[in-house]
Amino acid sequence: MNTLVRGGLVVSMDPAVGTLARGDVLVEDGRIAAVGSSIDAAGAEIVDATGKIVLPGFVDTHRHTWQTAFRGVGADWTFDQYRAAMHGTLGPHYRPEDVYLGNLLGRIEALSSGVTTMLDWFHRADRPENADAAIQALRDAPGRSIFCYGAAGPDIEPEIRRVRALLPDDDMALGLRGPVMSTLDETAADVALARELGLRVSLHVHGTGGWPHGDRPIAAMRDRGLLDDRTTVVHGNGLSDDQLAMLADAGGSVSVSPDVELKMGFEPPVTGRALAAGLRPSLSIDDCPSAGGDMFSAMRTALAAERGAVTTRDVLAFATLDGARALGLEARTGSLTVGKDADFVLLDAEDPSVFPVGDAAGTIVAAGHPGLVDSVFVAGRAVKRHGRLLDVDLPKLRARLLESRDRIAEAAGIAVDGSWVP
Ligand SMILES: [Zn+2]
Repeated sequence: MNTLVRGGLVVSMDPAVGTLARGDVLVEDGRIAAVGSSIDAAGAEIVDATGKIVLPGFVDTHRHTWQTAFRGVGADWTFDQYRAAMHGTLGPHYRPEDVYLGNLLGRIEALSSGVTTMLDWFHRADRPENADAAIQALRDAPGRSIFCYGAAGPDIEPEIRRVRALLPDDDMALGLRGPVMSTLDETAADVALARELGLRVSLHVHGTGGWPHGDRPIAAMRDRGLLDDRTTVVHGNGLSDDQLAMLADAGGSVSVSPDVELKMGFEPPVTGRALAAGLRPSLSIDDCPSAGGDMFSAMRTALAAERGAVTTRDVLAFATLDGARALGLEARTGSLTVGKDADFVLLDAEDPSVFPVGDAAGTIVAAGHPGLVDSVFVAGRAVKRHGRLLDVDLPKLRARLLESRDRIAEAAGIAVDGSWVP
């Protein structure tokens, strides 16, 4: 089945194609077959993009999706409160069913706001059934998802190998315990296992020292040969410029979560310094108890926090093509490029909140919001059309998530109305 997306404002994010004030995108067998100002494709199904922006789907490189049921309860929390609440108070009460619902509704929400590719950074793997439930939810949501197994505790190797056998190559990454929760020797063993199993690695670093790896964790990893082009540092706030340059030299990447970093009181987002060091940052949501789940707000905060150091074009690339690069998927997604999978969104360009669209990147970054997301396609398949998700029974899933949340809250003895201070 061929599809012609016709007559939209095409923001390709492919430097060779650029932005077309009025353009078409031809999709054949789930892939982009042509992008141009006027494509003749007799017999193709027509998707009318008049009055719409055609944009590659967003890429979120780090989200703890399992926490979806507690949306908003942590918007006032510091990082220490978040950690105590989610990992100390609530997390242990999660059953596989709760993990499944959090991951499913969280992934669907991301999809609905245009996130076609997402890395689920899963750190509720205290029992194998939880990991299985998280993976099942990602499979049941029709987006492109990478399961990042966040290892915790000793003797993790057999479980990592078990999960690896469940997933195709591009669909798994390894979340490292270090530098916060393991020694450098343990991190070296984790990285060796990841390399043996062909997994990208992702690790959380923020702050300015005091870790088991010492105060210069990226330098320590570089010295042990543990950095490469499959390494993503989440946050990176507080890392010195020379460590950012080491990550860049190794071909690694950084995932900036601007909303959470600013709200939780981290050091300033590293976006501008990362760019100056030769890195191309990607963007991420991190967690939905603390922040909204859409990439529009992540982009807007990234720009506002680094005004002068980054441009709207930079930020739009962070949220699309650079995210795909950070996940090793730049050959398949992140731009409207011939040969890539047809992962794209249609944004309503006639909504009063954005009309009239002059500079598309400026408008999307400065004024975009999830309400504009009219349609979402993943590998050429429509998963949202005319503002409605397809093939998803939202009322039923909502009821199940509410039941899950209330059960966990009761078991943990907490209120979800904002009165709970961890
Ligand atoms: Zn995180």
